[in-house]
Amino acid sequence: MTSGQTTTRRVEGEAGYLSPYPYLDKLQEKMEERLARRVPVKGRFCGFCYGRLRDADAVCGFCGSKLDAAGTVDEIPQPVLRLYKRKQQTEARWVYGLGFVGLIIASVLFILMAIWGPDIPAKIGVAFLLLIGGGYVLAQLFGTWIGGEIGYRRGARRRDAEWAAYMTERGTGSTPMRA
Ligand SMILES: [Zn+2]
Repeated sequence: MTSGQTTTRRVEGEAGYLSPYPYLDKLQEKMEERLARRVPVKGRFCGFCYGRLRDADAVCGFCGSKLDAAGTVDEIPQPVLRLYKRKQQTEARWVYGLGFVGLIIASVLFILMAIWGPDIPAKIGVAFLLLIGGGYVLAQLFGTWIGGEIGYRRGARRRDAEWAAYMTERGTGSTPMRA
């Protein structure tokens, strides 16, 4: 299973979902660092997507907005941080939830093996090894792979819908200011 950081370097369109806002996937990892307070709260951020900028940037490296049109802010708005946090939590819930299902399946197999398995020497020992190895494999399979995919799709869909609503409320249009 993965650690607390749920964002992996995903390619667009992976997991059967293509975000209409590709810069959100690029920003997800940065926003998770900010949520974990591993980077300073204050800084120079794109006025359109709130990606962190270097002092010399004239164009945002995340959404491509021209900064003299989009403007800059010195802090990421809280409602924006929250929508990334919900995405992270949704994905983590699926990874750990389905990982747990994998462990339960391994435990059931262990019990079946111990009770009805072939009568071989050190039967319980073999069953234990299968429990540990099988538990690891099944937790990976169900949690990291299947849970990760479902969690990514659900979390990203919701995040993107919330971002669309945020942009509407903000009233600055929904396309990066590249012109
Ligand atoms: Zn931007």
